[in-house]
Amino acid sequence: MDFRNAWHRDGDEEVCCIACGETVARSDAREYDKHGDRWNRDDKSFEYLCKPCYREYCHFDRTGLEDRLEAAGAGTVSRDTFLRRYHNIAAEAEQTRTDGR
Ligand SMILES: [Zn+2]
Repeated sequence: MDFRNAWHRDGDEEVCCIACGETVARSDAREYDKHGDRWNRDDKSFEYLCKPCYREYCHFDRTGLEDRLEAAGAGTVSRDTFLRRYHNIAAEAEQTRTDGR
């Protein structure tokens, strides 16, 4: 742990978009806090959306997004695992929707 980084977390750090997996500068990303509590940062890992995905989520139906994030293990599994799971779950949700169920 580099203590200087700990104190300057808003620098040019790069983050990973939870929707498309794209790596973007943190300053260009939109913070997505699944807990909805921005003030308690202890023990939390934030998720991020790149701007294109953030815009998409604003237009898309958000129903089930929280469930999908939780089901994918957001914050409890490694980012790689989470992204892989999330993509699978999102793909299933997409199919379910087109099935009209
Ligand atoms: Zn994205």
